[in-house]
Amino acid sequence: MMRSHYCSQLNKTMNGREITLCGWVHRRRDHGGVIFLDIRDRDGLAQVVFDQGCAESFATASRVRSEYVVKITGKVRLRPTGAMNVNITSGAIEVLGYELKILNEAETLPFSLNEYSDVGEETRLRYRFLDLRRPEIAKNLHLRSRITINIRRFLDEHGFLDVETPILTLATPEGARDYLVPSRTHAGSFFALPQSPQLFKQLLMVAGFDRYYQIAKCFRDEDLRTDRQPEFTQIDIETSFLNEQEIMSFTEQMICNLFKEVLGLELSKFPRMTFKEVMRRYGSDKPDLRIPLELVDVADQLQDVDYRVFSGSANDPKCRIAALRLPGGASLPRKQINDYTKFVSIYGAKGLAYIKINKRANGIDGLQSPIVKNIPEANLNTILNRVGAIDGDIVFFGADKAKIVNEALGALRLKLGHDLNLLTCKWAPMWVIDFPMFKENDDGSFSALHHPFTAPKCSPEELETNLASALSRAYDMVLNGTELGGGSIRIHCKEMQKAVFRLLRINETEQQKKFGFLLDALKYGAPPHGGLAFGLDRLVMLMAGCQSIREVMAFPKTQSAADVMMQAPSVVDAKVLRELHIHLREIPKSE
Ligand code: ASP
Repeated sequence: MMRSHYCSQLNKTMNGREITLCGWVHRRRDHGGVIFLDIRDRDGLAQVVFDQGCAESFATASRVRSEYVVKITGKVRLRPTGAMNVNITSGAIEVLGYELKILNEAETLPFSLNEYSDVGEETRLRYRFLDLRRPEIAKNLHLRSRITINIRRFLDEHGFLDVETPILTLATPEGARDYLVPSRTHAGSFFALPQSPQLFKQLLMVAGFDRYYQIAKCFRDEDLRTDRQPEFTQIDIETSFLNEQEIMSFTEQMICNLFKEVLGLELSKFPRMTFKEVMRRYGSDKPDLRIPLELVDVADQLQDVDYRVFSGSANDPKCRIAALRLPGGASLPRKQINDYTKFVSIYGAKGLAYIKINKRANGIDGLQSPIVKNIPEANLNTILNRVGAIDGDIVFFGADKAKIVNEALGALRLKLGHDLNLLTCKWAPMWVIDFPMFKENDDGSFSALHHPFTAPKCSPEELETNLASALSRAYDMVLNGTELGGGSIRIHCKEMQKAVFRLLRINETEQQKKFGFLLDALKYGAPPHGGLAFGLDRLVMLMAGCQSIREVMAFPKTQSAADVMMQAPSVVDAKVLRELHIHLREIPKSE
C-alpha cells in the first residue's frame, strides 16, 4: 500500500510520527518561503507544510496545482494554538512534508470544488466524477452505504434472505410506463424492466422462502416534473404468515433502529391514522405532522348562505369546504395573502377566502374579511368555534371539488408551516392505513390505488358490491410529509385475485396472458403473505438533510431522464437495430 494513513486519522497522539498520505491537492497556498498544501482523500483533509529546508520537495510543491494527485511523506507536528482548524478532524496537527511525489497532474477543472454553488446542475452532472470529489456530496454516499449496511444487517439478523430477481422481465403494474428492451432472439418481442420486484417476491413466498429482502433497482418511465428518477432503489421486503400489524411493527422497528444507530436519534412510536382521517385533517395521504395546522370541515354551516361559491360547494356531495386556521395570522399583510391566493391557484383553487379575527368580542365588527357579510353570525360563530379561532388569527377557506380543496389547502398548510417556521419537531414519522382499494378514473372506470395484488379488507362478493368504498389492507410509512415506503397484505387466493382483475376490467384472456403464472402459483398452496418497499433514495435524502434525491445518488439522471455524462440514451447503429428487428419510424436528426 502506498499510504500509511488517511488524512482524518491524523491527530495529536501522532505527534512526531512519520506518515505517508496519498490524495489530491485541495488547495495550495504559497507564503513565500513556505508552501501549504491541503491534501484531500476519501474521508478528510490534512495540512502539509513544505519549507526550504528540503529543497527538492519545496520545488515540487511550487509546481503542484489544484487536483494534482500526490504522495507525501512527512512528520506529524502540533500546530501552534492559534493555527488550529476545528472544522477538520486533523485540525490540531499539520505534516511537515519532506517527500513529495506527483502521481498525476490535473488540468484546470471546469468548476472549482470550493465555489461550486453557482455551477448549474447540468455541468455538475456532466462532470459528476469531479462533483463527487466535493466532501459535501461525497458524504451523502458514505451515509448511504452506512444505511444499506445497517438495513442489511437488521434484516439478516431477523432471518431475511437476500434474493436477486430479474431485470429483464415482464411489465409489473405499479402505475407508470415501462422501459422496454427489444429481444434479438424473439423478433418483435420486448422485455420490460421491472417497476418493482412485486410479483417475483410474491412467488418467492409461494416457493416457501418465508422472509425475503432485496435492495432492488426499479425502473419507471414517469414524467419527471417532481423529484423522481427513472431508475431508483427500493428496500424491498416480503414475508409469509405475518399480518399487517406485525409487518408494520417490524419495519417500524427497523427504521427506528436505523435512525438510532446511524444518526444517534430516538424516534418515538409512529402514530397510525386512516386514509380517511388524514385526508380530512391534512388534505394529503402523506401529511407532514411537524406542522401543527389542520383542515376542518365547515360545509354544514354554509349550505344556505348568500354566497354561491360556498352554498354551491356545500350542497354538492363531490365538493368540500374546509377551513384552515393560522394562529397569529391576522397580521399577514395583504400582499402575502395575495401571494398565497396565487399559490393555491396552482392546484386549481379559484380563490382563497379568509377571515381575520381582530377582536371576536366585537362580533362581526371584530372580523375583517370580504365574505363575512354573506354569512349569518350564528354560522360564523359555529365555524370560528369549531376551528378554535381567537383574536389575532386568520382562517383560510377552500370550497370546491374535494380533490381541489385537499390539494390546495394541503399544499397551503405545508407552505405556511415552512414560511412561518411553525415546525414543532424535527422528525414526524407515521403510518397511513385503511386505504381505499380503488380510485375512480374520469371515465368512470376504476384502477388499483396500490397495485392489483393488494388484498381487500372484505370478501370478493362484498368487494363487487362496494367498489368505490372498499378498503384495502395497504399501509404507507410517511416521514415529514414524504412517503417513505408502502406495502400491503397480498391476495393469496385465486378467486379473490380473479375478482379484482375482473373489477379492473382485465378479461379472462388478458388475465391468462399477463398474469397466468401468478394465477397458477395461487393454485398450488400460496401462503398468506405481505410486505412493503421503502424508497432508499428518499430515505437517504431525508437522513442526509438534502432537498433532492439527486444529491444522494452517485450518477443520477437529469430532469429530462438523460445521462449527460455518458450521453445516454444514444442513437445506435442501423446494423444493431436490424439485429433487433427494429425499424425506426423517424430517424433522429443527429444521425
Ligand atoms: N411493490 C410495491 C411498490 O413498489 C411495494 C409493495 O407493495 O411491497 O410500491
